[in-house]
Amino acid sequence: MEIKNHRIEGENIKWSESPNQGDKFASGMPDAVIIHYTAGSSAESSVTSLSNPKQKVSAHLVVGRNGEIYQLVPFDTIAWHAGVSEWNGRKGYNKYSIGIEIDNAGILKPNGSGKYVSWFNKTYSPDEVIKAKHRNSGAEQYWHQYTEEQINAVFEICECLCENYAIREILGHEEIAPQRKTDPGPAFPLERLRLTVFENDREQESVAAGGQQLAKFARVTTPLLNIRKGPGISFEKTAEPLIIDSRVEVIESDNDWTKVRYSVEGWVSTKYLQA
Ligand SMILES: [Zn+2]
Repeated sequence: MEIKNHRIEGENIKWSESPNQGDKFASGMPDAVIIHYTAGSSAESSVTSLSNPKQKVSAHLVVGRNGEIYQLVPFDTIAWHAGVSEWNGRKGYNKYSIGIEIDNAGILKPNGSGKYVSWFNKTYSPDEVIKAKHRNSGAEQYWHQYTEEQINAVFEICECLCENYAIREILGHEEIAPQRKTDPGPAFPLERLRLTVFENDREQESVAAGGQQLAKFARVTTPLLNIRKGPGISFEKTAEPLIIDSRVEVIESDNDWTKVRYSVEGWVSTKYLQA
């Protein structure tokens, strides 16, 4: 898999341009990837609706259940997948991000005879379904599983995007629009994707820089940890607090205060970090 002229090339990849696209990205963009599920019945039907000029929605890529990839919009051009969205003070993620739609039915309901049914009335067997809580809500629900081929394809795509663009965030639609959206949902290994892609990326940078030691990571041990512009409580907060169990990269340490990188950089109190 490689990117040439803002198009992804390789096996099982089809170019199918959508008319639903905006301006070219500003310089330095895209620097984020947004992961979605289609809540649709097939990759082909999603490509069709993401190419319907009346619907005014699109994404850069659609990933089918066998790992097949459709590209609808070139990576230097804004696609319309994020809608009203915000993360770490940035609003309107279409102008910052590549959108990847994964063919998945989303939330399913038990049909009373041991199977599960989607909003568009397709039936799924139990081995295609997981029961889990969503990060944005308390109740357990049933979710359509992603296939291994899809997950592998998405990981490979994100690695490839990171090699070609200065990607620093991989986020779920559910994170940038938590009031409206549940995709990609708990069936998708979003944390593992971030750790895998960004750690590989940093390892490569470290090797490129002369093979210094690999980045160190720490875990946040308190429910909410303020992240500040400098090493002390007199410094302004730079972003929303980090939440417990967040994994951060350690940049430097000044005894009681440690500079860390998450999707943002800043200083936190060292006593709430565990190596
Ligand atoms: Zn979405």
